[in-house]
Amino acid sequence: MFENLKEQPADKILALMQLYREDPREQKIDLGVGVYKDASGNTPIMRAVKTAEKQLWEAETTKAYTGLAGDPGFSDAMIALVLGDAVPRANVAAAATPGGTGAVRQAFDLVRMASPSGKVYVSDPTWPNHLSILKHMGIPFTPYRYFDNETRAVDFDGMMADLAQAGKGDVVLLHGCCHNPTGANLNLSQWQAVVDLLLKTGATPMIDIAYQGFGDGLEEDAAGVRLVASSVPECLIAASCSKNFGIYRERTGLLMAVSNDAGAQKLNQGTLNYLNRQNYSFPPDYGARLVTMVLTDPALRADWAAELEEVRNSMLGLREQLAAELQRLSGSDRFGFIAQHRGMFSRLGASPEQVETLRRDHGIYMVGDSRLNIAGLNKSSVPILAEAIVKSGI
Ligand code: PMP
Repeated sequence: MFENLKEQPADKILALMQLYREDPREQKIDLGVGVYKDASGNTPIMRAVKTAEKQLWEAETTKAYTGLAGDPGFSDAMIALVLGDAVPRANVAAAATPGGTGAVRQAFDLVRMASPSGKVYVSDPTWPNHLSILKHMGIPFTPYRYFDNETRAVDFDGMMADLAQAGKGDVVLLHGCCHNPTGANLNLSQWQAVVDLLLKTGATPMIDIAYQGFGDGLEEDAAGVRLVASSVPECLIAASCSKNFGIYRERTGLLMAVSNDAGAQKLNQGTLNYLNRQNYSFPPDYGARLVTMVLTDPALRADWAAELEEVRNSMLGLREQLAAELQRLSGSDRFGFIAQHRGMFSRLGASPEQVETLRRDHGIYMVGDSRLNIAGLNKSSVPILAEAIVKSGI
């Protein structure tokens, strides 16, 4: 039977990490994988998370199963973090999932059950795993224009024209903030225009929010999601705790199904429970419990929010330093977009050949579509990158 298996395409980002590890050069810069790194290149455990771990070790008395949707306290805390008071709690069904990826996967599963012939509209470009999961599940999808390669900003007219084609039963997948891989985001009036269009077409929005707190702040980054959730009849939201709590390997995420008909909540909740049951029964609990502790203890929460602010500001500082350095070296403003983008990533707009030149001649590793992880930089590597970018004719 195994002889029928086909070689699966390797994950390009993981392959790039391997190449980086094998590169013997002393001066090399890893701007590939989407993991936050501090100025010394470490991915630290956040202070509040570490404290919560200690407290949990003391207080935890059992490892018995949780509920199928995970610990309800986790759902409550995360719904409040993502949605604030945009919608009544009674309108939200939610289930813990293994990471944001698990939430995305479960959301697509729900879409397939609820709308078997529906199409998923995905931004061009989007996080490659969106496409890979959709392909694997046999769900039809179609790209909508999103990124303007010239301005490196959102091609909003193109986006709206393409999304006008989505109809009832279709799903429009949006990034809540800090778009991966481009770093280009909608402003609030653009979110409002998207909401108006969704209300007109009847398509269902699904929002993937994996970087809340990495862009303009915890509240600001959730503004688009909250606007959508409070305006449309129903939506799906996949949230990840991997980045903003720094608990990548604990696999912590939440899928929310929001309906403005509170009567639908029971059916939605039952469906989310059912989907967890079919795929892995009970979701992982350790990370979810840490997140709940951090969010519900005022002192831990304040410390976490302060550290998250440090992380966000350090990325903003690197963006500004890189944009300024590039302006100085190139004598042009064409890299100003780096300071405008938000989150961990920016798409540079370089050709695959130029990306290869950066790797071969300068030991600088970024994804082939020229996505760079800003957090892979530090104050002293920014000038090295800037010089390499200009030398490579980008
Ligand atoms: N969505 C997007 C857009 C992402 O960039 C990521 C992380 N790379 C995720 C979801 C999921 O992350 P995780 O499964 O690690 O929580």
